[in-house]
Amino acid sequence: MTDIPINENIKSVLARIAKAAKDAERDPQDISLTAVSKTFPAETIELALQAGQRVFGENRVQEAQGKWPALKSVYPDVRLHLIGSLQTNKSADAVALFDVIETLDREKLAKSLAKAAADHGGCPDLFVQVNTGEEAQKGGLAPYEVVGFVDWCRSDLNMPIVGLMAIPPADEPPAPHFALLFELAAKAKLSRLSMGMSGDYETAVHLGATDVRVGSGVFGPRG
Ligand SMILES: *Cc1c(COP(=O)(O)O)cnc(C)c1O
Repeated sequence: MTDIPINENIKSVLARIAKAAKDAERDPQDISLTAVSKTFPAETIELALQAGQRVFGENRVQEAQGKWPALKSVYPDVRLHLIGSLQTNKSADAVALFDVIETLDREKLAKSLAKAAADHGGCPDLFVQVNTGEEAQKGGLAPYEVVGFVDWCRSDLNMPIVGLMAIPPADEPPAPHFALLFELAAKAKLSRLSMGMSGDYETAVHLGATDVRVGSGVFGPRG
């Protein structure tokens, strides 16, 4: 078990989100906290569930498969987000387990997810990941590709694209990246923006985030 006060952490993150929202003249209800539970065991996640948290993020399909089917059977209203890169050979597993996939970032994956969703009889909500810093090692579309890709996913594949997601470069101020994502979402006519992590979610809320992904701020440092 953990001695991290998860209940207190969640309250404090939600209070900071609400304050940032009010400062930005936004409705706090429009911002959802995704508690990033990657690397943490089911017993630790259970504490967050007992505290009332229902939206969680995992970055690996296999790790999530080991923890979440049992937790979801006890808490059926959980919304599980995939926030890590997805290989096409895991599409069917991802579609079966996750309620939201935030890392759609290429044509081949879109086609593979569309097929998996047809076989499954339903598609998770999808965010298109944008590589706002154009980093070579990072997943995501280049900013100039986003609008065309979103239109193609919607019209040709009939996919439920709900928003954009980005992970700004670790060594740069995040605000310009958040602002760019906001601008791209407006151009692509998307209403949700997944941006902001433990170190910068208040900045992200100021710049229009609707989904913030907070790991260590909820669960404490990862091993
Ligand atoms: C791990 C992770 C987070 C959470 O990071 P923290 O700094 O612990 O809040 C958010 N988003 C993604 C994509 C991650 O992989």
